[in-house]
Amino acid sequence: MDSDSAITFYGGAGTVTGSNFLLEHNGTRILIDCGLTQGEQYCHKCNYDDFEYDPASIDVLIATHAHADHIGRIPKLVRDGFNGVIYSTPATRDLSSIMFDDAVRILEDEARKENREPLYTLLDARKAMSLWKGVEYHAKGDASGIPFTFLDAGHILGSAMVEFLLNGKKVVFTGDLGNSPAPLLKDTERVDGATYILMESVYGDRNHEDRSARREKLKEAIVDTEGRGGTLLIPAFSIQRTQVLLYEINNMVEDGEVNEIPVFLDSPLAIKVTDIYRNYESLYNETVKKEIAAGDDIFDFAKLSFTPRVEESKAILTTPGPKIIIAGSGMSTGGRVLHHEKVYLQDSKSMLLLVGYQAVGTLGRHIADGLKHVTIFNDTINVRAEVRLIRGYSAHKDGEHLVEFVEPSAETLRKVFVAMGEPKASNFLAQRLHDFLGVDALVPKKGDRVVLEL
Ligand SMILES: [Zn+2]
Repeated sequence: MDSDSAITFYGGAGTVTGSNFLLEHNGTRILIDCGLTQGEQYCHKCNYDDFEYDPASIDVLIATHAHADHIGRIPKLVRDGFNGVIYSTPATRDLSSIMFDDAVRILEDEARKENREPLYTLLDARKAMSLWKGVEYHAKGDASGIPFTFLDAGHILGSAMVEFLLNGKKVVFTGDLGNSPAPLLKDTERVDGATYILMESVYGDRNHEDRSARREKLKEAIVDTEGRGGTLLIPAFSIQRTQVLLYEINNMVEDGEVNEIPVFLDSPLAIKVTDIYRNYESLYNETVKKEIAAGDDIFDFAKLSFTPRVEESKAILTTPGPKIIIAGSGMSTGGRVLHHEKVYLQDSKSMLLLVGYQAVGTLGRHIADGLKHVTIFNDTINVRAEVRLIRGYSAHKDGEHLVEFVEPSAETLRKVFVAMGEPKASNFLAQRLHDFLGVDALVPKKGDRVVLEL
């Protein structure tokens, strides 16, 4: 039996997306995440490539959270021979199931257009779900004999860090780390006494802008658009960003800070995700729990409508007077938001409010950059609506807080692996960890295998 303990970095090394790490210990092989490569350096085809290991040789797969760059290739892994157990928190399991169903539609569509096999089918996704077991935060997990525990990462609902105990030493994989304190979610849990940490570094070289202005800016956007009788259109990601917006608008409406105007959540996926959020109220932070205990339904307020059906979505256009529409996708790369943008971008009374990162090359980025003519469904659209950006909705820790996160383990750490970031961000963070905490920090490259000294 191989008595080595090692980590191999198959994805999420030198890049933000495609998270995929192999932990080996006493012959047991555990994958942490199996995500899609996406974003700026979009590598569409490489998602279709064979895995660099035999999926059938993997005993256990652990999913840190339900974002596509962490779970998006799991059904392919199953199709290619993985037949072990998948563990995540119950919320991540439920969210993943919805995300797969949604992805299958898009993948099959793409495959038809490009005349090839889809990355995976509904059958592969269903098989993946049949292998999937939920483990609560802080419960004693067992990955083929290796003890593990999920800790709250505070990034999206159900997001977890996984803490393994190998020869009595803590080896921690952070997944993505939340920008705590955050609306809705609890803070990222403290990790101390770790021997190895593999961490994300998306914003390793940056500090976020002040978050306190965020809510005020949202309120101003609502008030200003309503004042001129326009439509406030907010492209939003389905998980977390949408629920935070609903929660904040809920409070503004119920506290009388803004007038009651029609609000539409026009995204079938985001509606399903919001239902899952409702099932896990125990995962909210204390402020939100108190509001719920006092009788508030945080995702329901006067004049809010969910519009899952196409006819309902089309009817939004005929709703007179000022209104708010929240729709996907978050970067305007597809989804119903495009139909609304086609109409409301041409209306000088309306406003497009961008609340998330807009990748280079996306329609959202073109609009954010101030282009006055954009193309939607082959039509040229004159942008007459006001465009505003709100930063501060980031769901990731910034550089300063990533260092703070590592600090409680500074004395015990053998090494920190700085991953899930662009090289510039990862290298900067590694240097900071070394300079500020005296920690040995390494930026691994794709394919590197590092033996752990335990
Ligand atoms: Zn994430």
